[in-house]
Amino acid sequence: MDKFIPREWQDSLITTVSKNLEEKNTIALEAPTGSGKTSFILYLSFLTDKKIIYLTRTHNEFTRIYEDNKKYFNLPIIYLFGKSNLCPLKERWYDTDENQKNVCKGCVLKDKIVDMDLLKMRSPEEFINDVIDDSIEKIRDDLNKNNMGRDQKGNLTTLRKDKMRAYCPYYSVRENMKDAKIIMMTYNYLLNPSIRYNVFYNNDEEKIDLNDYYIIFDEAHNLDSVIENFGRSLTNKSILKSIDLLVDEFPLNKYKCHERVEANLILEELLNNFSSTRETDNLKNFKFSNDFLFRMKDLESLKKFSDEFDKMNDERPLKDRSKNYIETVYNFLYDYQRMENGGLYSSINFNGKELRLRIMYYDTSEYFSFLKNRPAVFMSGTLPSEDHISKVWNMDNVFYIRVNDIFKNTGGIKKYRIVNGYTTLGKYRNNIEEWSEMLKKYMDFIVNTYNESEKSVIVAVPSYKIMFGDNEKKIPGIGTYLPDDMRKNVFFENKRISFNYLEKTALASRIIIFSVHGGKLLEGIQLIKDSKSLISDVIIAGLPLIPLDDYRKNKINYLEKALGRNSYNILYYEYALIKIKQAAGRSTRSPEDRANIWLCDDRFDSYYWKKNLLNE
Ligand code: SF4
Repeated sequence: MDKFIPREWQDSLITTVSKNLEEKNTIALEAPTGSGKTSFILYLSFLTDKKIIYLTRTHNEFTRIYEDNKKYFNLPIIYLFGKSNLCPLKERWYDTDENQKNVCKGCVLKDKIVDMDLLKMRSPEEFINDVIDDSIEKIRDDLNKNNMGRDQKGNLTTLRKDKMRAYCPYYSVRENMKDAKIIMMTYNYLLNPSIRYNVFYNNDEEKIDLNDYYIIFDEAHNLDSVIENFGRSLTNKSILKSIDLLVDEFPLNKYKCHERVEANLILEELLNNFSSTRETDNLKNFKFSNDFLFRMKDLESLKKFSDEFDKMNDERPLKDRSKNYIETVYNFLYDYQRMENGGLYSSINFNGKELRLRIMYYDTSEYFSFLKNRPAVFMSGTLPSEDHISKVWNMDNVFYIRVNDIFKNTGGIKKYRIVNGYTTLGKYRNNIEEWSEMLKKYMDFIVNTYNESEKSVIVAVPSYKIMFGDNEKKIPGIGTYLPDDMRKNVFFENKRISFNYLEKTALASRIIIFSVHGGKLLEGIQLIKDSKSLISDVIIAGLPLIPLDDYRKNKINYLEKALGRNSYNILYYEYALIKIKQAAGRSTRSPEDRANIWLCDDRFDSYYWKKNLLNE
């Protein structure tokens, strides 16, 4: 373990931060990427002996905390992964739906908990592999020794309870959380009220007292977009499957009752409503027909057959069980009926093929209300503004700390410049000839910048469509105009791209990395040599505004009414500002780093952007 020597800002701020947290205030901590926010939080726990709940957007970010903890502090740490990661009994899973409430029903391992060694420093991956391997080994051993057996349906059964050593890793992790100094989890475990209740309460009794913890939200600029997507969604595939299920499992000739007919009518009418909407990339207002709204008033028939199907599933051998699609539809419609502060939208599924309906919420502050009078830290390299945190998130007593304003150049110096003559504005993209010319111009600028750059270059574009174009519609993208002789030094963001490979390549020679705002590279890539950045130039190729679709417009209207003022800047432009700063932040990793940030879009040449970027 290395001795932790706090940096100047960490040393100076630790007392102020802990004092404010003890007074149950909220801290908004903005510090450049690479300046040591994670180690600061671990240091805080180390010095004050306080327990921490550390929340991240995805599991991938757990690794960073593990690395700092292993290097400097060795605090007892636990990683709360979901059942889909921690369940050793894959035979109980009939799909990958993490929310399956039924998967553990009747499982003999549910109450089998073991103590975990939280001082053994393991990466999150090692932790999962260790506990899964260990529990599978113990299950096998118990089966071999006849401590456990299987019933006719394939379920594990207990034969000699006193001898059994098999256990459930997922429930063991939940039980061991109280002994950890640092609990790692993703945002939804704490922000989503039903999941929070499930994890932190047991039969209405608080299992883990949140008041014993400092609650830390890392990369807090992501919180709005994560919460916006908390609502349920429904695809036409699920409706079709629920109709099949109803017809196959509850045939009309056997179930001659009013509810059976009613359940069928609800599902058929829902399907009809679905097919009346057009496919669209963006979120589009969706309205159910009056007939369907009338029919939907009584969902008891769906509930009845959903419950019946659950019972039938329980009676079947494991291999014959299947997902309860009627329940999927019922849950969606139930939430829709009770929806407040939100709306119903249609969009294309992630894979670009399937239409789905989504319940989307407007008021994110509701999800933060449990934090009142609890010590919490929101931190990021690029936080939302004070106005946003106090008004949109409705947080009182926020102490906003901008590390770079107090300790100059904590994260190096970025020089922002506006470059005129370029734009990705939608109306130019409609004319393919004009758009092609614009893309060629962008590529010329990128190549020239690279030729003159001291180190590697990152290009940040607003969307994959602008980067790659659309083959089917024969629309080009920036990548279309990459000169052949440059290909070996250029990388485009894709799902499989590895940070390690990029770093290895950037260490050997200067490269260009094309990335998309909001993608994994701009959220996480660090290219470093001897603690210094390997990036000298970031090209912001176009203004990365979120699409002003029906959902965005309605959300802005809703919040402007609630806030009683015009809030376009904090509800719309600010998201683009954060994305730009996030991209720029990839270029500086030490106080000595210097980087050029090229703002290539004519729209940057206006008051809002100059005020917020050129004064950096
Ligand atoms: S109780 Fe544990 S082992 Fe059993 S199904 Fe649930 S997660 Fe898996």
